[in-house]
Amino acid sequence: MKRRNFIKAAASTGLITSTTLATTNASANSKTIKWKMVTTWPKNFPGLGTGANSLAKLITQMSGGRLKVKVYGANELVPPFEVFDAVSRGTAQMGHGAAYYWKGKTPAAQFFSAVPFGLTAQEMNGWLYHGGGMELWQETYEPFGLIPTAAGNTGVQMAGWFNKEIKSIADLKGLKMRIPGLGGEVLKRAGGTPVSLPGGEIFTSLKTGAIDATEWVGPYNDLAFGLHKAAKFYYYPGWHEPGTTLEALINKKALEKLPDDLQSIVLNACKIANQEMMTEYTTRNQRALDTLINIHKVNVLKLPDEVLSKLQTLSDEIVNEVAETNKITKKVFKSFKTYRDSVKKWTDISELAYLKSR
Ligand code: CA
Repeated sequence: MKRRNFIKAAASTGLITSTTLATTNASANSKTIKWKMVTTWPKNFPGLGTGANSLAKLITQMSGGRLKVKVYGANELVPPFEVFDAVSRGTAQMGHGAAYYWKGKTPAAQFFSAVPFGLTAQEMNGWLYHGGGMELWQETYEPFGLIPTAAGNTGVQMAGWFNKEIKSIADLKGLKMRIPGLGGEVLKRAGGTPVSLPGGEIFTSLKTGAIDATEWVGPYNDLAFGLHKAAKFYYYPGWHEPGTTLEALINKKALEKLPDDLQSIVLNACKIANQEMMTEYTTRNQRALDTLINIHKVNVLKLPDEVLSKLQTLSDEIVNEVAETNKITKKVFKSFKTYRDSVKKWTDISELAYLKSR
């Protein structure tokens, strides 16, 4: 601060020379800035926690050590579901989680993680980076002093773990299931009871019968939690999370305090992390699926088409209703829906047609 005041004072008196400016800038740039990153994930949890670790490491490396980011797992600094508030008030400068955890702050947040029967990972990135989604995400978090951005994607998730077969939509009635976001609202409309639990509490809740069923992510993460030891049937596809975006939350004031190059490094490191996680999941999910089927003899079943079709009808109802909650949610939904309806035509004759023919 003293140096900055000196520069200001010197500049205002016209005494400053280019030599002194260059020296003071170099000296200011070499000062290490320390940031804290709080996360909703158990410390070092495969894929999600390690994804946050990689992001922090990347920022530290790309900045040549000028900006050092230290990661805190769930409950190390704050509980998992307090990440949003902690970064908003500046307890930590950064956070890593998923936007649907913040639906209580603003329902619009859910559109930036996963929407039932919504966008795939590829389409999600298309909307965020080139379809106006990112600007709307930032507008949604503006009142909280936060800048959000994408920092990971799991791809299509699994429908989840059940201890009974799901043969019709009626089988969801009375089911107490861990399922976050809009997917949870859909389960509720189908007669079930959605529960929002942080990852670290899922296994015990399922094992003890506190919940009847759960979804988590996909083979890679579900195997890591040992969910196959707590439920018999593993259903696909993850209709409720077709391409879940993970989120980096950045305290706006903290970001704006950084020099321009460090601001760019933080945001671009998130972009790299977003891509990196998707490629990791693509590779590790198929290996873990092999292990679940061949070693643990898990029953992997597809939800009947009739169940999926009913879930889609309920999802459309719910999403349309949520969109009416407030002005920003309506605006986000409109952009999301326009993009989805339009990109579907292209995906159908490209990815989908190709995959069907492979
Ligand atoms: Ca999930």
